[in-house]
Amino acid sequence: MRRQSTIAFDYAATATRSAEGVLLIAGVVFVAALFGIYTRPMGLLASFWPANPILLGLMIRKPRLSTPAGWTSACLAYLAADIITGANIWTTLWLTGANIAGVASGFLLFQQLPKGDRRLRRPLSIIYLFGICVIATLCSATVGSSVTKILYDRELLTGFAFWFTGDLVNLIIVLPVALTIPSLGRLQTAIAGVVQKPSFNDWLPAIAFVLSLAGSGLVGGVGAFAYAVPALLWCAVRYELFYVACCSFLYCAVQTVLVTSGLYSSFVEGDALNSIMSIRLAIVLIALGPLSVASINAARSELISKLERAVRYDFLTNSLSRREFIEQATAMLAKRSINGEGTAIALIDIDHFKSINDRYGHSAGDRVLVAFASRLSGILGESDLMGRLGGEEFGLVLSVPDNTQATIMADKIRKTVEELRVGHPDGNQITVTVSGGLVFTRSPNPLNVNVLLTKADTLLYEAKNSGRNQIISSDT
Ligand code: GH3
Ligand code: MG
Ligand code: MG
Repeated sequence: MRRQSTIAFDYAATATRSAEGVLLIAGVVFVAALFGIYTRPMGLLASFWPANPILLGLMIRKPRLSTPAGWTSACLAYLAADIITGANIWTTLWLTGANIAGVASGFLLFQQLPKGDRRLRRPLSIIYLFGICVIATLCSATVGSSVTKILYDRELLTGFAFWFTGDLVNLIIVLPVALTIPSLGRLQTAIAGVVQKPSFNDWLPAIAFVLSLAGSGLVGGVGAFAYAVPALLWCAVRYELFYVACCSFLYCAVQTVLVTSGLYSSFVEGDALNSIMSIRLAIVLIALGPLSVASINAARSELISKLERAVRYDFLTNSLSRREFIEQATAMLAKRSINGEGTAIALIDIDHFKSINDRYGHSAGDRVLVAFASRLSGILGESDLMGRLGGEEFGLVLSVPDNTQATIMADKIRKTVEELRVGHPDGNQITVTVSGGLVFTRSPNPLNVNVLLTKADTLLYEAKNSGRNQIISSDT
Protein backbone atom coordinates (compact mmCIF):
# COMPACT_ATOMS: atom_id res chain seq x y z
CA MET A 1 0.00 0.00 0.00
CA ARG A 2 2.72 2.33 1.07
CA ARG A 3 4.73 1.57 -2.06
CA GLN A 4 1.75 2.29 -4.32
CA SER A 5 1.07 5.66 -2.72
CA THR A 6 4.75 6.64 -3.14
CA ILE A 7 4.57 5.79 -6.86
CA ALA A 8 1.30 7.75 -7.23
CA PHE A 9 2.92 10.71 -5.45
CA ASP A 10 6.00 10.61 -7.75
CA TYR A 11 3.75 10.47 -10.79
CA ALA A 12 1.78 13.50 -9.57
CA ALA A 13 4.99 15.41 -8.85
CA THR A 14 6.38 14.62 -12.33
CA ALA A 15 3.11 15.65 -13.97
CA THR A 16 3.08 18.92 -12.01
CA ARG A 17 6.71 19.62 -12.97
CA SER A 18 6.07 18.99 -16.67
CA ALA A 19 2.88 21.14 -16.60
CA GLU A 20 4.92 23.92 -14.99
CA GLY A 21 7.58 23.50 -17.70
CA VAL A 22 4.98 23.73 -20.49
CA LEU A 23 3.47 26.87 -18.95
CA LEU A 24 6.90 28.41 -18.48
CA ILE A 25 7.83 27.87 -22.14
CA ALA A 26 4.46 29.08 -23.41
CA GLY A 27 4.55 32.20 -21.21
CA VAL A 28 8.13 33.16 -22.00
CA VAL A 29 7.82 32.60 -25.76
CA PHE A 30 4.46 34.39 -25.92
CA VAL A 31 5.74 37.51 -24.11
CA ALA A 32 9.03 37.57 -26.06
CA ALA A 33 7.18 37.12 -29.38
CA LEU A 34 4.75 39.94 -28.54
CA PHE A 35 7.72 42.13 -27.65
CA GLY A 36 9.28 41.33 -31.06
CA ILE A 37 6.02 42.03 -32.88
CA TYR A 38 5.49 45.42 -31.21
CA THR A 39 9.05 46.51 -31.95
CA ARG A 40 8.64 45.43 -35.59
CA PRO A 41 9.18 48.34 -37.95
CA MET A 42 6.49 48.86 -40.54
CA GLY A 43 6.62 46.32 -43.32
CA LEU A 44 9.69 44.48 -42.01
CA LEU A 45 10.00 41.19 -40.20
CA ALA A 46 10.84 41.89 -36.55
CA SER A 47 14.30 43.41 -36.36
CA PHE A 48 14.61 42.46 -32.70
CA TRP A 49 13.19 39.01 -32.15
CA PRO A 50 14.23 37.75 -28.69
CA ALA A 51 11.81 34.80 -28.63
CA ASN A 52 14.17 32.42 -30.47
CA PRO A 53 17.32 32.96 -28.37
CA ILE A 54 15.26 32.95 -25.16
CA LEU A 55 13.56 29.66 -26.09
CA LEU A 56 16.93 28.19 -27.14
CA GLY A 57 18.58 29.36 -23.89
CA LEU A 58 15.72 27.93 -21.82
CA MET A 59 15.94 24.53 -23.55
CA ILE A 60 19.75 24.41 -23.17
CA ARG A 61 19.62 25.41 -19.49
CA LYS A 62 16.68 23.08 -18.72
CA PRO A 63 16.90 20.17 -21.20
CA ARG A 64 14.14 18.35 -19.28
CA LEU A 65 11.75 20.89 -20.89
CA SER A 66 12.62 19.48 -24.32
CA THR A 67 9.60 17.19 -24.59
CA PRO A 68 6.94 16.95 -27.33
CA ALA A 69 4.64 18.93 -25.00
CA GLY A 70 7.35 21.57 -24.45
CA TRP A 71 8.00 22.11 -28.15
CA THR A 72 4.27 22.09 -28.94
CA SER A 73 3.64 24.77 -26.30
CA ALA A 74 6.43 26.87 -27.85
CA CYS A 75 4.79 26.54 -31.32
CA LEU A 76 1.38 27.47 -29.92
CA ALA A 77 2.86 30.51 -28.15
CA TYR A 78 4.48 31.75 -31.39
CA LEU A 79 1.18 31.24 -33.24
CA ALA A 80 -0.94 32.85 -30.51
CA ALA A 81 1.24 35.97 -30.36
CA ASP A 82 1.02 36.42 -34.14
CA ILE A 83 -2.68 35.62 -34.46
CA ILE A 84 -3.89 37.94 -31.68
CA THR A 85 -1.93 40.72 -33.36
CA GLY A 86 -3.81 40.08 -36.60
CA ALA A 87 -1.38 38.03 -38.70
CA ASN A 88 -2.46 35.67 -41.48
CA ILE A 89 -2.67 32.08 -40.21
CA TRP A 90 -0.69 30.50 -43.09
CA THR A 91 2.12 33.06 -42.89
CA THR A 92 2.23 32.60 -39.14
CA LEU A 93 2.47 28.82 -39.47
CA TRP A 94 5.35 29.20 -41.91
CA LEU A 95 7.20 31.73 -39.71
CA THR A 96 6.72 29.51 -36.66
CA GLY A 97 8.16 26.57 -38.64
CA ALA A 98 11.20 28.71 -39.46
CA ASN A 99 11.63 29.79 -35.82
CA ILE A 100 11.35 26.23 -34.51
CA ALA A 101 13.75 24.93 -37.21
CA GLY A 102 16.41 27.38 -36.00
CA VAL A 103 15.85 26.80 -32.27
CA ALA A 104 15.64 22.99 -32.55
CA SER A 105 18.80 22.71 -34.67
CA GLY A 106 20.65 25.02 -32.26
CA PHE A 107 19.42 22.97 -29.30
CA LEU A 108 20.50 19.66 -30.87
CA LEU A 109 23.98 21.04 -31.60
CA PHE A 110 24.39 22.56 -28.11
CA GLN A 111 23.45 19.20 -26.61
CA GLN A 112 26.62 17.76 -28.16
CA LEU A 113 28.80 20.15 -26.13
CA PRO A 114 30.05 19.50 -22.59
CA LYS A 115 28.29 21.42 -19.79
CA GLY A 116 31.13 23.95 -19.39
CA ASP A 117 30.72 25.01 -23.04
CA ARG A 118 26.93 25.13 -22.75
CA ARG A 119 27.43 27.70 -19.96
CA LEU A 120 30.13 29.48 -22.07
CA ARG A 121 32.78 28.86 -19.41
CA ARG A 122 35.50 27.28 -21.56
CA PRO A 123 38.15 28.96 -23.76
CA LEU A 124 36.54 27.85 -27.04
CA SER A 125 32.91 28.29 -25.96
CA ILE A 126 32.31 31.52 -27.89
CA ILE A 127 33.70 29.98 -31.09
CA TYR A 128 31.28 27.05 -30.63
CA LEU A 129 28.46 29.49 -29.84
CA PHE A 130 29.17 31.40 -33.05
CA GLY A 131 29.38 28.23 -35.19
CA ILE A 132 26.12 26.84 -33.78
CA CYS A 133 24.33 30.18 -34.17
CA VAL A 134 25.41 30.31 -37.84
CA ILE A 135 24.12 26.78 -38.52
CA ALA A 136 20.87 27.37 -36.59
CA THR A 137 20.29 30.61 -38.47
CA LEU A 138 21.00 28.92 -41.82
CA CYS A 139 18.23 26.43 -40.93
CA SER A 140 15.69 29.10 -39.95
CA ALA A 141 16.60 31.33 -42.92
CA THR A 142 16.22 28.41 -45.36
CA VAL A 143 12.67 27.77 -44.13
CA GLY A 144 11.73 31.40 -43.52
CA SER A 145 13.20 33.32 -46.46
CA SER A 146 10.54 32.12 -48.90
CA VAL A 147 7.92 33.85 -46.72
CA THR A 148 9.64 37.17 -47.28
CA LYS A 149 9.31 36.61 -51.04
CA ILE A 150 5.57 36.03 -50.71
CA LEU A 151 5.02 38.77 -48.12
CA TYR A 152 7.22 41.51 -49.47
CA ASP A 153 7.95 40.28 -52.99
CA ARG A 154 11.67 40.30 -52.23
CA GLU A 155 14.33 38.43 -54.19
CA LEU A 156 14.73 35.00 -52.58
CA LEU A 157 18.45 35.57 -52.01
CA THR A 158 17.86 39.04 -50.51
CA GLY A 159 15.17 37.60 -48.24
CA PHE A 160 17.55 34.84 -47.19
CA ALA A 161 20.37 37.33 -46.42
CA PHE A 162 17.95 39.54 -44.51
CA TRP A 163 16.61 36.71 -42.40
CA PHE A 164 20.08 35.23 -41.85
CA THR A 165 21.72 38.44 -40.64
CA GLY A 166 18.73 39.51 -38.52
CA ASP A 167 18.36 36.16 -36.76
CA LEU A 168 22.12 35.69 -36.28
CA VAL A 169 22.33 39.10 -34.64
CA ASN A 170 19.43 38.26 -32.32
CA LEU A 171 20.94 34.93 -31.30
CA ILE A 172 24.41 36.32 -30.61
CA ILE A 173 23.08 39.30 -28.65
CA VAL A 174 20.61 37.49 -26.39
CA LEU A 175 21.83 33.87 -26.12
CA PRO A 176 24.97 34.64 -24.00
CA VAL A 177 22.74 36.43 -21.46
CA ALA A 178 20.29 33.51 -21.38
CA LEU A 179 23.09 30.94 -21.02
CA THR A 180 24.95 32.72 -18.23
CA ILE A 181 22.17 34.24 -16.12
CA PRO A 182 22.68 32.96 -12.55
CA SER A 183 19.93 31.16 -10.65
CA LEU A 184 17.67 33.45 -8.59
CA GLY A 185 19.48 32.66 -5.32
CA ARG A 186 22.94 33.36 -6.75
CA LEU A 187 21.68 36.50 -8.48
CA GLN A 188 20.34 37.82 -5.15
CA THR A 189 23.68 37.06 -3.45
CA ALA A 190 25.57 38.79 -6.28
CA ILE A 191 23.33 41.88 -6.17
CA ALA A 192 23.58 42.01 -2.35
CA GLY A 193 27.40 41.85 -2.70
CA VAL A 194 27.41 44.77 -5.15
CA VAL A 195 25.05 46.84 -2.98
CA GLN A 196 26.89 46.13 0.29
CA LYS A 197 30.45 46.68 -0.89
CA PRO A 198 30.44 49.48 -3.43
CA SER A 199 34.10 49.96 -4.34
CA PHE A 200 34.90 52.76 -6.76
CA ASN A 201 37.56 50.66 -8.49
CA ASP A 202 35.01 47.93 -9.20
CA TRP A 203 32.75 50.45 -10.90
CA LEU A 204 35.47 51.98 -13.10
CA PRO A 205 35.12 49.59 -16.10
CA ALA A 206 31.32 50.04 -16.07
CA ILE A 207 31.68 53.85 -15.91
CA ALA A 208 34.21 53.77 -18.77
CA PHE A 209 31.81 51.59 -20.76
CA VAL A 210 28.84 53.94 -20.30
CA LEU A 211 31.01 56.99 -21.10
CA SER A 212 32.39 55.39 -24.26
CA LEU A 213 28.86 54.44 -25.38
CA ALA A 214 27.80 58.06 -24.88
CA GLY A 215 31.01 59.20 -26.61
CA SER A 216 30.32 57.14 -29.72
CA GLY A 217 26.85 58.74 -29.88
CA LEU A 218 28.22 62.26 -29.42
CA VAL A 219 31.25 62.03 -31.69
CA GLY A 220 29.67 59.84 -34.37
CA GLY A 221 31.44 59.04 -37.62
CA VAL A 222 32.07 55.90 -39.61
CA GLY A 223 34.10 54.07 -36.96
CA ALA A 224 32.10 55.20 -33.92
CA PHE A 225 30.73 51.72 -33.21
CA ALA A 226 34.24 50.60 -32.21
CA TYR A 227 34.80 53.34 -29.61
CA ALA A 228 33.40 51.25 -26.75
CA VAL A 229 35.59 48.21 -27.48
CA PRO A 230 38.44 49.00 -25.00
CA ALA A 231 35.94 49.62 -22.18
CA LEU A 232 34.09 46.41 -23.11
CA LEU A 233 37.39 44.50 -22.93
CA TRP A 234 38.08 46.08 -19.52
CA CYS A 235 34.66 44.89 -18.32
CA ALA A 236 35.42 41.44 -19.78
CA VAL A 237 38.59 41.15 -17.72
CA ARG A 238 37.07 42.51 -14.48
CA TYR A 239 33.50 41.21 -14.35
CA GLU A 240 31.72 37.88 -14.16
CA LEU A 241 30.68 36.38 -17.50
CA PHE A 242 26.97 37.16 -17.00
CA TYR A 243 27.62 40.89 -16.51
CA VAL A 244 29.86 40.90 -19.60
CA ALA A 245 27.05 39.26 -21.59
CA CYS A 246 24.74 42.04 -20.34
CA CYS A 247 27.31 44.72 -21.33
CA SER A 248 27.66 43.11 -24.76
CA PHE A 249 23.85 43.10 -25.11
CA LEU A 250 23.72 46.77 -24.12
CA TYR A 251 26.55 47.66 -26.49
CA CYS A 252 24.85 45.94 -29.44
CA ALA A 253 21.45 47.45 -28.59
CA VAL A 254 22.76 51.03 -28.24
CA GLN A 255 24.94 50.81 -31.34
CA THR A 256 22.09 49.33 -33.38
CA VAL A 257 19.82 52.19 -32.35
CA LEU A 258 22.57 54.69 -33.24
CA VAL A 259 23.09 53.05 -36.66
CA THR A 260 19.40 52.91 -37.53
CA SER A 261 18.88 56.47 -36.29
CA GLY A 262 21.23 57.61 -39.04
CA LEU A 263 24.26 58.50 -36.95
CA TYR A 264 26.48 56.77 -39.48
CA SER A 265 24.44 58.20 -42.40
CA SER A 266 27.49 59.09 -44.52
CA PHE A 267 28.28 55.39 -44.42
CA VAL A 268 24.87 54.21 -45.54
CA GLU A 269 24.30 56.31 -48.60
CA GLY A 270 22.93 54.34 -51.49
CA ASP A 271 21.56 51.02 -50.35
CA ALA A 272 20.73 52.18 -46.82
CA LEU A 273 18.98 49.03 -45.62
CA ASN A 274 21.78 46.70 -46.66
CA SER A 275 24.39 49.00 -45.12
CA ILE A 276 22.49 49.08 -41.85
CA MET A 277 22.27 45.28 -41.81
CA SER A 278 25.96 45.04 -42.60
CA ILE A 279 26.99 47.43 -39.80
CA ARG A 280 24.62 45.72 -37.39
CA LEU A 281 26.25 42.39 -38.14
CA ALA A 282 29.70 43.95 -37.69
CA ILE A 283 28.67 45.34 -34.27
CA VAL A 284 27.56 41.92 -33.08
CA LEU A 285 30.73 40.25 -34.35
CA ILE A 286 32.79 42.87 -32.49
CA ALA A 287 30.99 41.88 -29.28
CA LEU A 288 32.27 38.30 -29.70
CA GLY A 289 35.78 39.51 -28.74
CA PRO A 290 34.95 40.66 -25.17
CA LEU A 291 32.68 37.64 -24.72
CA SER A 292 35.62 35.36 -25.63
CA VAL A 293 37.86 37.17 -23.16
CA ALA A 294 35.21 36.76 -20.43
CA SER A 295 34.82 33.04 -21.22
CA ILE A 296 38.56 32.47 -21.07
CA ASN A 297 38.65 34.45 -17.83
CA ALA A 298 35.84 32.32 -16.37
CA ALA A 299 37.69 29.12 -17.35
CA ARG A 300 40.91 30.50 -15.86
CA SER A 301 39.23 31.53 -12.58
CA GLU A 302 37.67 28.07 -12.26
CA LEU A 303 41.04 26.44 -12.85
CA ILE A 304 42.76 28.73 -10.33
CA SER A 305 40.17 27.98 -7.65
CA LYS A 306 40.60 24.22 -8.31
CA LEU A 307 44.38 24.58 -8.04
CA GLU A 308 44.03 26.70 -4.90
CA ARG A 309 41.88 24.01 -3.34
CA ALA A 310 44.41 21.33 -4.33
CA VAL A 311 47.21 23.35 -2.73
CA ARG A 312 45.29 24.23 0.44
CA TYR A 313 43.67 20.88 1.19
CA ASP A 314 44.88 17.31 1.38
CA PHE A 315 43.19 15.36 -1.41
CA LEU A 316 42.60 12.16 0.62
CA THR A 317 41.47 13.40 4.04
CA ASN A 318 40.24 16.90 3.17
CA SER A 319 42.34 18.29 6.06
CA LEU A 320 44.51 21.37 5.50
CA SER A 321 47.75 20.75 3.62
CA ARG A 322 51.02 21.15 5.53
CA ARG A 323 51.71 24.58 4.02
CA GLU A 324 48.20 25.90 4.61
CA PHE A 325 48.19 24.51 8.16
CA ILE A 326 51.45 26.33 9.02
CA GLU A 327 50.13 29.58 7.46
CA GLN A 328 46.77 29.45 9.23
CA ALA A 329 48.31 28.28 12.51
CA THR A 330 50.78 31.19 12.45
CA ALA A 331 47.97 33.70 11.87
CA MET A 332 45.76 32.10 14.53
CA LEU A 333 48.54 32.01 17.12
CA ALA A 334 49.41 35.67 16.50
CA LYS A 335 45.78 36.76 16.82
CA ARG A 336 45.10 34.76 19.97
CA SER A 337 48.32 35.92 21.66
CA ILE A 338 47.45 39.59 20.95
CA ASN A 339 44.07 38.96 22.62
CA GLY A 340 45.82 37.22 25.56
CA GLU A 341 44.14 33.89 24.74
CA GLY A 342 45.77 30.50 25.18
CA THR A 343 46.49 28.09 22.29
CA ALA A 344 47.57 24.45 22.13
CA ILE A 345 49.52 22.93 19.27
CA ALA A 346 49.53 19.16 18.95
CA LEU A 347 51.26 16.65 16.72
CA ILE A 348 49.56 13.27 16.54
CA ASP A 349 50.59 10.10 14.72
CA ILE A 350 48.70 6.84 14.21
CA ASP A 351 50.38 3.91 15.94
CA HIS A 352 51.73 1.00 13.91
CA PHE A 353 50.01 2.26 10.79
CA LYS A 354 52.41 0.38 8.55
CA SER A 355 51.12 -2.92 9.97
CA ILE A 356 47.53 -1.89 8.98
CA ASN A 357 48.69 -1.42 5.40
CA ASP A 358 50.61 -4.70 5.54
CA ARG A 359 47.68 -6.65 6.95
CA TYR A 360 44.64 -5.12 5.22
CA GLY A 361 46.12 -3.47 2.13
CA HIS A 362 46.89 0.11 1.17
CA SER A 363 43.31 1.02 0.24
CA ALA A 364 42.07 -0.10 3.66
CA GLY A 365 44.84 2.08 5.11
CA ASP A 366 43.48 4.99 3.07
CA ARG A 367 39.97 4.41 4.42
CA VAL A 368 41.33 4.40 7.96
CA LEU A 369 43.03 7.75 7.30
CA VAL A 370 39.78 9.22 5.92
CA ALA A 371 37.70 7.93 8.85
CA PHE A 372 40.35 9.08 11.34
CA ALA A 373 40.43 12.63 9.93
CA SER A 374 36.65 12.86 9.67
CA ARG A 375 36.13 11.64 13.26
CA LEU A 376 38.75 14.04 14.55
CA SER A 377 37.37 17.06 12.71
CA GLY A 378 33.96 16.15 14.19
CA ILE A 379 35.19 16.73 17.74
CA LEU A 380 37.19 19.88 17.01
CA GLY A 381 35.68 23.31 17.53
CA GLU A 382 34.90 25.74 14.69
CA SER A 383 38.00 27.80 15.35
CA ASP A 384 40.36 24.79 15.73
CA LEU A 385 42.61 23.71 12.87
CA MET A 386 43.65 20.30 11.60
CA GLY A 387 46.28 19.66 8.93
CA ARG A 388 47.84 16.55 7.45
CA LEU A 389 51.56 17.13 7.91
CA GLY A 390 52.73 13.83 6.41
CA GLY A 391 51.56 10.20 5.81
CA GLU A 392 49.69 9.38 9.08
CA GLU A 393 50.83 12.40 11.02
CA PHE A 394 48.44 15.30 11.74
CA GLY A 395 48.87 18.73 13.30
CA LEU A 396 46.19 20.39 15.45
CA VAL A 397 45.75 23.92 16.74
CA LEU A 398 43.26 24.06 19.61
CA SER A 399 41.70 27.21 21.00
CA VAL A 400 41.72 26.25 24.69
CA PRO A 401 41.86 28.62 27.68
CA ASP A 402 44.46 26.74 29.74
CA ASN A 403 46.71 23.71 29.93
CA THR A 404 44.12 21.69 31.87
CA GLN A 405 41.55 22.11 29.08
CA ALA A 406 44.27 21.27 26.56
CA THR A 407 45.00 17.98 28.40
CA ILE A 408 41.27 17.17 28.59
CA MET A 409 40.99 17.75 24.84
CA ALA A 410 44.06 15.59 24.19
CA ASP A 411 42.50 12.74 26.12
CA LYS A 412 39.21 13.16 24.27
CA ILE A 413 41.09 12.89 20.96
CA ARG A 414 42.93 9.77 22.11
CA LYS A 415 39.72 8.07 23.31
CA THR A 416 37.79 8.99 20.18
CA VAL A 417 40.47 7.38 18.01
CA GLU A 418 40.54 4.32 20.24
CA GLU A 419 36.79 3.88 19.75
CA LEU A 420 36.99 4.25 15.98
CA ARG A 421 35.97 1.14 13.98
CA VAL A 422 36.60 0.87 10.25
CA GLY A 423 34.88 -2.08 8.56
CA HIS A 424 36.85 -4.36 6.24
CA PRO A 425 35.37 -6.68 3.58
CA ASP A 426 36.90 -9.70 5.35
CA GLY A 427 34.54 -8.99 8.26
CA ASN A 428 37.19 -7.52 10.56
CA GLN A 429 36.79 -4.16 12.25
CA ILE A 430 40.05 -2.22 11.95
CA THR A 431 40.98 -0.34 15.12
CA VAL A 432 43.76 2.19 15.65
CA THR A 433 45.36 4.15 18.45
CA VAL A 434 47.20 7.42 18.36
CA SER A 435 50.23 8.92 20.08
CA GLY A 436 50.92 12.60 20.33
CA GLY A 437 52.68 15.55 21.83
CA LEU A 438 50.86 18.75 22.84
CA VAL A 439 52.29 22.13 23.73
CA PHE A 440 50.23 24.87 25.37
CA THR A 441 51.16 28.54 25.14
CA ARG A 442 49.73 31.85 26.27
CA SER A 443 52.75 34.03 25.78
CA PRO A 444 52.27 37.52 24.30
CA ASN A 445 55.30 36.64 22.14
CA PRO A 446 54.61 33.02 21.26
CA LEU A 447 57.27 30.85 19.68
CA ASN A 448 57.18 30.29 15.96
CA VAL A 449 54.71 27.54 14.92
CA ASN A 450 57.55 25.38 13.54
CA VAL A 451 59.41 25.62 16.87
CA LEU A 452 56.22 24.66 18.76
CA LEU A 453 55.72 21.72 16.39
CA THR A 454 59.32 20.59 17.01
CA LYS A 455 58.63 20.67 20.77
CA ALA A 456 55.41 18.69 20.19
CA ASP A 457 57.41 16.22 18.07
CA THR A 458 59.80 15.59 20.97
CA LEU A 459 56.80 14.81 23.20
CA LEU A 460 55.34 12.57 20.49
CA TYR A 461 58.63 10.66 20.35
CA GLU A 462 58.42 10.25 24.13
CA ALA A 463 54.82 8.98 23.84
CA LYS A 464 55.86 6.42 21.23
CA ASN A 465 58.75 5.23 23.40
CA SER A 466 56.65 4.88 26.50
CA GLY A 467 54.07 2.48 25.09
CA ARG A 468 52.03 4.50 22.51
CA ASN A 469 48.25 5.26 22.76
CA GLN A 470 48.92 8.42 24.78
CA ILE A 471 49.27 12.17 24.23
CA ILE A 472 51.85 13.93 26.40
CA SER A 473 51.13 17.57 27.21
CA SER A 474 53.43 20.35 28.33
CA ASP A 475 53.33 24.11 28.98
CA THR A 476 55.87 26.32 27.20
P1 GH3 B 1 54.65 4.23 14.61
O1 GH3 B 1 53.72 3.71 15.63
O2 GH3 B 1 56.08 4.23 15.13
O3 GH3 B 1 54.26 5.55 14.10
O4 GH3 B 1 54.66 3.19 13.44
P2 GH3 B 1 54.04 3.40 12.01
O5 GH3 B 1 53.97 2.07 11.35
O6 GH3 B 1 52.76 4.13 12.12
O7 GH3 B 1 55.07 4.35 11.35
P3 GH3 B 1 55.96 4.22 10.07
O8 GH3 B 1 56.56 5.56 9.87
O9 GH3 B 1 56.89 3.07 10.17
O10 GH3 B 1 54.94 3.92 8.90
C1 GH3 B 1 54.04 4.86 8.44
C2 GH3 B 1 53.29 4.22 7.30
O11 GH3 B 1 52.26 5.06 6.81
C3 GH3 B 1 54.20 3.92 6.11
C4 GH3 B 1 53.42 4.36 4.92
O12 GH3 B 1 53.30 3.33 3.97
C5 GH3 B 1 52.05 4.67 5.47
N1 GH3 B 1 51.41 5.74 4.74
C6 GH3 B 1 51.85 7.01 4.55
N2 GH3 B 1 50.96 7.71 3.82
C7 GH3 B 1 49.94 6.86 3.50
C8 GH3 B 1 48.75 6.98 2.75
O13 GH3 B 1 48.39 8.04 2.20
N3 GH3 B 1 47.94 5.89 2.64
C9 GH3 B 1 48.29 4.71 3.24
N4 GH3 B 1 47.46 3.67 3.11
N5 GH3 B 1 49.42 4.55 3.94
C10 GH3 B 1 50.24 5.61 4.08
MG1 MG C 1 52.74 6.10 12.89
MG1 MG D 1 54.57 8.78 11.19
